[in-house]
Amino acid sequence: PGPQLPFDSEKKTIVVLGSGWGATSLLKTLDTSEYNVIVISPKNFFLFTPLLPSVAVGTVSPRSIIQSTRYLTRHKTRQVSVIEAEATDVDALNKTVTFTDNSEIKGLVSSTTIPYDYLVYAVGAEVQTFNIPGVKEHACFMKELHDAERLQRAFMDCVETAAFPTQSTAEVDRLLHMIVVGGGPTGVELSGELHDFLEDDLKMWYPELAAKIRITLVEALPSVLPSFSKQLISYTESTFKESKIDILTKTMVKEVKENSVVLQMPDKSIVEVPCGLVVWAAGNKSRALTQKLMAQLPSDQTNKRGIVVDDHLRMNGTNGSIFAIGDCTATSYAPTAQVASQQGSYLARCFHELAKTEKLSAKAAEIEQALTTTSSGDEKKKLEDSLASVLKKLKNQKLRPFHYSHQGSLAYIGSEKAIADLPFMDGNIATGGVATYLFWRSAYLSTLFSLRNRTLVATDWLKVKLFGRDVSRD
Ligand code: FAD
Ligand code: NAD
Repeated sequence: PGPQLPFDSEKKTIVVLGSGWGATSLLKTLDTSEYNVIVISPKNFFLFTPLLPSVAVGTVSPRSIIQSTRYLTRHKTRQVSVIEAEATDVDALNKTVTFTDNSEIKGLVSSTTIPYDYLVYAVGAEVQTFNIPGVKEHACFMKELHDAERLQRAFMDCVETAAFPTQSTAEVDRLLHMIVVGGGPTGVELSGELHDFLEDDLKMWYPELAAKIRITLVEALPSVLPSFSKQLISYTESTFKESKIDILTKTMVKEVKENSVVLQMPDKSIVEVPCGLVVWAAGNKSRALTQKLMAQLPSDQTNKRGIVVDDHLRMNGTNGSIFAIGDCTATSYAPTAQVASQQGSYLARCFHELAKTEKLSAKAAEIEQALTTTSSGDEKKKLEDSLASVLKKLKNQKLRPFHYSHQGSLAYIGSEKAIADLPFMDGNIATGGVATYLFWRSAYLSTLFSLRNRTLVATDWLKVKLFGRDVSRD
C-alpha cells in the first residue's frame, strides 16, 4: 500500500538527514547506482543561505534562492527517495531512524521508522539564544527562509506604524530604531542590507521618516567580524560609520522586551533602549536531535559544540555507520557553507570507494570459496593468481582523510561594498570596496544551485536597479 521506497536488497541503504549545504553537495556527487538512497528533511528544498539577508529587505525574492531537492535527485542513475519529514529519533545501536510528517496536512500515517546501513547526519544547527529572556518571543531570527520573510514584513510594519497620524515623536523614534544583535557575518550583512533599503528606497517612499530610521549593531566582543583580518574589520567599521550604522561593541544584550532591549554596556551599566525591531544573529547551537543522538554515546561524544567525527567524518563511537557533516559537527573548521559542501562531496567519494571495497571483498570471498572446492592444479593456479590480484587491489583501496581547502571569506557590508579575505600563495589578500562587491556578486551568482536560481537572482538584481525594492507589505 502507498508509495514504497526504492529498494534493492543487494545494495546497502544510505539515509541522508537534511537538505542543506552538506546533504545537497553529497547528493550532487553521490553515485546512486551503488546504494539505496533515502533523503529525509522537513524542508523539501535547498536554501542558498548567503543571500538570505538580501531576501529580508526584498533585494532578492525568496523563491529565487531555493531549489527543490527533487530537482537534483530526479537526474540520478537510480531513483532517490525524498521524504518531507523531520527525523525525531536516531537509534545508533539498532541503526534505525524515526521520522514524522510535521507539516500542516497529515495522512493516516505520519510517523515511521526505517533501518539504515549508513546514516549521513547533516541536520545543521539551530539559533543560539543563550536562554536570554524574551529572545524567542520578541526577536526575529535570520536563519531560515521564513525568518527573512517575517523580518521584511515586521520592518515594513514598523515603518508604516511610524507613519500613522499623530504618532508621538518618541514613539516614531522607537519604531524606527532597528537593533541587530551579533556582529558576526550574518549581523553585519543584514545591517548593510537594511542600510541599502533605507538609502535606495525608503528615503524616496517615506521622505518624512527616513532620516529618523536608525540601525544599531550590538556585539559582545571587542570588535565585529572577529574571523576577518584587522584591516577589513576597520574598513567595515568606517563604512558603517559613513552609513550611519551605529556599532556598539563590548555590549551584551541581556533581555529582549516587546518594545526595547536591555543592554549591558562596556562599563557594566545596564541600559534599556527602546526599539521597533530586534534581529537576533548571535550564532548557533546543536539541535535537540543531535544532543539526543550524542547522549547515546556518552564516552565518545562529549563535545558540547556538536558531534565529534574522525578524519573520515565518521561519528566517533558508531563503527563507521554514521557520518556527520556541516554545522552539526564540532571540528576545527568554522561552521560555514564552504566546509559543509566540501564535506558533502568528500563523503560522496568515500561512498564510491566503500562500494568498490565491498565489491572487491565479495570477489575475494568468492575466489576463496572456489579454491576450497577445486582439485585441478591449473584451475587452482588461475584462482590463486586472480585472488592475489584482487587482494592487491584491496590493499591499494585507501580512503584519504578529509582535507578542507579554504577558498576565502566574503561578506557584503552595504553601500555596494564587500570585503574579502582571500588565500594567496602562503598568505592572505584582504580587499574591500566596490570591485570586491562585484566579485562578491559574481562569486555568489556562480555558486547558486542551478541555472534557474542564477537567472532568478540576476533578474531580481536588475529589477531592483530599475524599479527599486517593493515596500508593499503582504
Ligand atoms: P544547513 O544548510 O542548515 O542544512 C540543514 C538541513 O537539515 C536543512 O535542510 C534542515 O531543514 C534539515 N533538518 C533540520 N532538522 C532536521 C531533522 N530533524 N531531520 C531531518 N532534517 C533536518 N556560510 C558560508 O560559507 N558563506 C556565507 O556567505 C554564508 N552566509 C550565511 C548567511 C546566513 C544568513 C546564514 C544563516 C548562514 C550563512 N552561512 C554562510 C553559513 C552556512 O549557511 C552554514 O554553515 C551551512 O548552511 C551549514 O550547512 P549544513 O548542511 O550543515 O546545514
Ligand atoms: P557568529 O557566531 O559568527 O556571530 C555571532 C556573534 O554574536 C558573535 O560575535 C557573538 O559574540 C555575538 N553575540 C552572542 N551573544 C550576544 C549577546 N547576547 N549580545 C551581543 N552579542 C552577542 O554567527 P553568524 O554571524 O550567524 O555566523 C554563523 C556562521 O555562518 C559563521 O561560521 C559564519 O562564518 C558563517 N557565515 C558566513 C557568512 C559569510 O561568509 N559571508 C555570512 C553569514 C554567516
